[in-house]
Amino acid sequence: IIKYRNISKSFGSLRVLNDLSLDIAPNEKVALIGPSGSGKTTLGRLLMTLERPDAGTIEVDGEMLWHKEVNDQLMAADEKHLHRIRSKIGMIFQQFNLFPHMNVLRNVTEAPIHVLGLSKEEAKEHAVAMLKKVGLGERMEHYPSQLSGGQQQRVAIARALVMKPKVMVFDEVTSALDPELVGEVLAVIKEIASEGEMTMLLVTHEMDFAREVADRILFMDGGAILEQGPPEQIFGNSQNPRTRDFLSRFV
Ligand code: ATP
Repeated sequence: IIKYRNISKSFGSLRVLNDLSLDIAPNEKVALIGPSGSGKTTLGRLLMTLERPDAGTIEVDGEMLWHKEVNDQLMAADEKHLHRIRSKIGMIFQQFNLFPHMNVLRNVTEAPIHVLGLSKEEAKEHAVAMLKKVGLGERMEHYPSQLSGGQQQRVAIARALVMKPKVMVFDEVTSALDPELVGEVLAVIKEIASEGEMTMLLVTHEMDFAREVADRILFMDGGAILEQGPPEQIFGNSQNPRTRDFLSRFV
């Protein structure tokens, strides 16, 4: 469902992604692990068109999202095209980015009403279902400031899910949380993953979580994928000394 081809990206003189290619199958759960600065987050941000590659192409669900040669024209001439592709992807960030002046329910109904054009009643029905799924059925009238970090992050997850994306990108979603709140957020993501019908790209430093949820682990370093394979292989029988060195820090 996602095809990165020969993607390179630099910030100034810093090369963050180096001729990287990657295919992700529909409903596959892929975890990206690797040292800080290895380019994991940038890979996710490219999908959301929050960054543009310097070279290479990205296809999402059979449609070209980025194509260097035609991209400037695409951006200018066909904003709708990009918008349609982007709507297939939901992204959750380290920071929750909720609307502070709206209660939980309105945080979740806002996009379905204004972007998908649902009626208020329909949007509410979907939002309530998603909030129950993430365990916040009792908190719908609360404002973000009245919630714990873990609860806020679960609202952010519900807000992304309600848009029914085909692909969800989880970018270190527990990194900003107090340790005791990490588990509840990971549990929600695990549950969504176990339902199966969602492609997931998980950038994470939680190795046990990656092992449990992912079908495939990618170890990134220096803007490239150095090793990939099923969790048993990467965690149990890695062939790459840099992967082993990285993982040894988590034992
Ligand atoms: P982490 O685990 O720390 O989040 P990462 O593997 O996700 O790391 P990226 O966030 O993709 O790494 O960043 C790769 C490098 O690019 C980092 O050194 C980062 O400082 C740099 N970088 C990312 N975004 C920008 C930007 N907009 N402008 C300049 N430099 C950037």
